[in-house]
Amino acid sequence: MSAGKTGIIIGGGASGVLLAAHLLRNPDPDLRVVLIERQGRFGPGLAYSALGRDHRVNVPARGMSAFADEPEHFWHWLQRRDPATYANSWTFVPRRLYGAYLEDVLRQAGARQPGRLRVLSEEAEAVRQTAAGVEVALANGTSLAGHWAALAVGHETQPARGKGIAVRAGSDRDTPLDADDPVMILGSGLSMVDAWVSLSMAQHRGPIIVVSRNGQLPQAHEDVPPLAIDSADVPLGTSLTYLMGWLRELVRETRASGGDWRSVIDGLRPYNQRLWQSWPAREKRQFLRHVRPWWNIHRHRLPPDLHAGLQRAVNAGQVTLIAAEFVGIERSGGGVRATIRPRGTDRRDRIDVARVYDCGGVSVDVRASGNPVVRHLIQTGAARPDDMHIGLDVDENCALIGAGGAVSSRIRVVGPLTRGRYFEIEAVPDIRVQCARIADSLQAMR
Ligand SMILES: Cc1cc2nc3c(=O)[nH]c(=O)nc-3n(C[C@H](O)[C@H](O)[C@H](O)COP(=O)(O)OP(=O)(O)OC[C@H]3O[C@@H](n4cnc5c(N)ncnc54)[C@H](O)[C@@H]3O)c2cc1C
Repeated sequence: MSAGKTGIIIGGGASGVLLAAHLLRNPDPDLRVVLIERQGRFGPGLAYSALGRDHRVNVPARGMSAFADEPEHFWHWLQRRDPATYANSWTFVPRRLYGAYLEDVLRQAGARQPGRLRVLSEEAEAVRQTAAGVEVALANGTSLAGHWAALAVGHETQPARGKGIAVRAGSDRDTPLDADDPVMILGSGLSMVDAWVSLSMAQHRGPIIVVSRNGQLPQAHEDVPPLAIDSADVPLGTSLTYLMGWLRELVRETRASGGDWRSVIDGLRPYNQRLWQSWPAREKRQFLRHVRPWWNIHRHRLPPDLHAGLQRAVNAGQVTLIAAEFVGIERSGGGVRATIRPRGTDRRDRIDVARVYDCGGVSVDVRASGNPVVRHLIQTGAARPDDMHIGLDVDENCALIGAGGAVSSRIRVVGPLTRGRYFEIEAVPDIRVQCARIADSLQAMR
């Protein structure tokens, strides 16, 4: 492939595949795409590689189409495979099935445009802008030249906390445990649920201690329509206290007229990115610190049957929820000693377990990224962390912003790494919209 109008996408998870698929909708034969993925499979990424039947997608199938303008694309794909099982689009499929769908989306996009898509099983180590375009250095010692590059490197695979002692569920270090061992899970969001599913699949019988700031489980989904909220009513740029008061009042009114709080949370979703952007850094920090735990359990919900199973494990005493701050961790004998500070106290409790899982979600610090491309970009000043340090700083076109404030004309970022600008950019319904928009602007690049 010539460097002509060839774009290079680094990362072949959901974000990279969605961007490639949107680009290949453009009939321009000169617009070519190279997709680089280090794990060998193009589509599943980290999120949709989980193998268990109960490692489930947490958005109903009707919300998971690759294309916002074809909302039933995924559901129809499911129906072609198994019309009886997928008669209804309000279904929460195993994530491995969604990974297979993404593989298919890419395969079909490539097949419709022969010669325009190249997939490359390699790790990218660095990307830099050159006079003529971009150059991507690969771990095999070679490099690729392109017209532009897009970073779709997704989630951090290193645990953010726990001094290298805590383990990410499903990683190579997550070796088999004795079935009666006590374990601790940090975080009580959907990644915690994944870890619990994996332990259940391994017939784990020992105690599971879940430590999080609010000590609560994610709520369950219900099939209710989103509330129609007028944009003029959304309190953009107000204090968090005002916003939360407004939200509570809306929930109260909705309930009083026979509705459900979920309708309010879902009705607000189209405005979430604008709300986040309307706050100064101080408000954003306060949101991350004080509101996010509450927000997460209401916004990122569980399939009802999975929620019921987890609640049963809590009721049976196998899973214990503790509202506490994680303070530290050290090795102790053959196991691990974790120190926590229970909420509302100054006490330090030390708990001995066989393993601590870090399921802390967005609490990553991009400055400590384990990803070679991200590290290199920051080290060379071609990129800078956003104000919250939860991703890379980008402009309104998702173009990378360097340490000195210069906006790259050739390097874009999509997916969770843009969460500093958008916050609500973790899930497919948001990522597909971002990819469609960025594909349009990349197509127009000269
Ligand atoms: C466990 C989990 C479950 C989730 N479940 C849902 C869900 O049910 N519904 C939903 O809408 N969202 C869900 N999400 C949110 C998720 O962020 C998005 O849906 C989406 O999968 C993000 O895709 P991504 O490609 O940006 O990231 P990732 O899935 O992290 O993929 C990034 C890919 O880039 C590759 N890569 C990284 N660096 C390099 C490099 N240097 N060179 C080459 N390749 C590289 C990685 O190998 C990986 O395959 C989930 C997230 C997680 C972590």
